[in-house]
Amino acid sequence: MPHVTIIGGGIAGLATAYYLQKKSRENGIPFSYSLIESAPRLGGKIVTDQVGDFIIEGGPDSFITQKPWATQLCRELGLADRLIPTNDERRNIYVLSKGKLVPFPGGYRLTVPTEFVPFALSPLISPLGKLRMGLDLVIPPRREQGDESLADFIRRRLGAEALDKIAGPVMAGIYVADPERLSLLSTFPMFAEMEQKYGSLIKAMRVSKKSTASHSANNGSGPRSPVPGQPLAMFTSLRGGMQELVEALTAQLQGDLQLGSRVIGLRRLSPGFEVTLDSSGTLQTDAVVMAAPAFIAAGLLEPLEPRLAALLRQIRYVSTATVSLGYRRTDLPTDLNGFGFMVPKSENRQILACTWSSTKFDHRAPANGALLRLFVGGDTKEHLVETLADEELFALAQAELRAIMGITAPPVAQRVFRWPKGNAQYDVGHLDRVAEMEQLAAAIPGLYLAGSAFRGIGLPDCIKSALTTVEGLMLQVKTFER
Ligand SMILES: Cc1cc2nc3c(=O)[nH]c(=O)nc-3n(C[C@H](O)[C@H](O)[C@H](O)COP(=O)(O)OP(=O)(O)OC[C@H]3O[C@@H](n4cnc5c(N)ncnc54)[C@H](O)[C@@H]3O)c2cc1C
Repeated sequence: MPHVTIIGGGIAGLATAYYLQKKSRENGIPFSYSLIESAPRLGGKIVTDQVGDFIIEGGPDSFITQKPWATQLCRELGLADRLIPTNDERRNIYVLSKGKLVPFPGGYRLTVPTEFVPFALSPLISPLGKLRMGLDLVIPPRREQGDESLADFIRRRLGAEALDKIAGPVMAGIYVADPERLSLLSTFPMFAEMEQKYGSLIKAMRVSKKSTASHSANNGSGPRSPVPGQPLAMFTSLRGGMQELVEALTAQLQGDLQLGSRVIGLRRLSPGFEVTLDSSGTLQTDAVVMAAPAFIAAGLLEPLEPRLAALLRQIRYVSTATVSLGYRRTDLPTDLNGFGFMVPKSENRQILACTWSSTKFDHRAPANGALLRLFVGGDTKEHLVETLADEELFALAQAELRAIMGITAPPVAQRVFRWPKGNAQYDVGHLDRVAEMEQLAAAIPGLYLAGSAFRGIGLPDCIKSALTTVEGLMLQVKTFER
């Protein structure tokens, strides 16, 4: 029976194991597998902890429902009735502007204004900045083909103020990335398409908004909700935290799971591979799925294909930390009417953003409690994550909340999670590099690349990468038979 070794037990590795079992059963093609995870637990970046009655996410707190793969997987795993939507009736987002929290104006879609009135009335952008954004309607589309940085694109179409106050913080929030280096084509390819098709982002967003509205009005559909008749919110979580997904996946896995075991070497046999583990010698296998971070994959693949290793090393990673603070509701000077705030670089603060977790989702804090989660680190502030002790990070987080929100009371619960070199960065040219990596990997029979380093950092894309990997494995199975 062919044997597959999956390196890394984050969502990509776990979903690969799950779909391998499933498709192998469906197609009547037996496989065995080993999933090797260096940490003592499965889940990688997905981790939920409970501190008192606060449910605290260390990594992802939700996933986008427009991309169907995570929702689909949750349903398959019997988690449909555990899915919880964001509390959209309180979906206000704020931006720190000159030290004050200013509401992000309504009617924006992905940083582009689609409604005139809220945009015109918002104090977030100066009158000159607004005029400059309006020039998007007349500025001709870019002539050159190919990738550019998100910052260059936004500056060209909407101006520098829109980049600083809107696009920069939004992108930093999603990708923990510096927009000056972030690849437009790997992250928001639709922007480039809109520019070419409509000559203007504002026009394109208005068309897309109208067609979405008439589509939903016509068929009442949207992504299917766990609650029949109700559309899914844009983001969904799980009632007990994202860890439920890891637990449900793990409960299904019947293969060989090796935790606390690090892959330290990979050698090509003919056919197949020999995988060396730091804990228990070697194992021989027909296929290898690399679901570990790209810099780890680079080290392992160096002897097999140095060019592939060099490309993998070019994927930069930055370090971040999330600091969660739980409060008594009555200790807060505000009722946290929103999902939180973003911090533009120009504000020169120590944090990137703050999620008001207990407003964004139910079940995150006790009835008299409120939970806030601050993001620290990223492109220019990695040193904070890498050098500060936990107590210093808590002090930093409290000082920031005091300065920005006027919170002076001490928290009643706190938890920090660090993600050293935990966030892959899709720099300009990323897609071309990924295409070359995929080509080089495809030339090594039985080698697959999966996970957040390549075609999407979000959970749905990581799960999709697992599905694609397993489909590839099913097609190649004949070549594994010895
Ligand atoms: C703070 C934070 C917030 C986020 N928020 C969201 C969000 O809200 N929504 C969303 O969709 N996404 C979010 N993301 C992104 C998303 O969580 C990640 O992109 C995704 O979980 C990565 O999954 P992965 O399986 O590719 O990698 P990982 O989770 O990094 O898993 C890789 C695994 O490989 C293991 N490993 C490493 N080296 C070896 C080795 N030599 N041998 C064996 N095992 C090894 C590691 O221990 C790890 O468990 C967030 C990420 C972070 C850090």
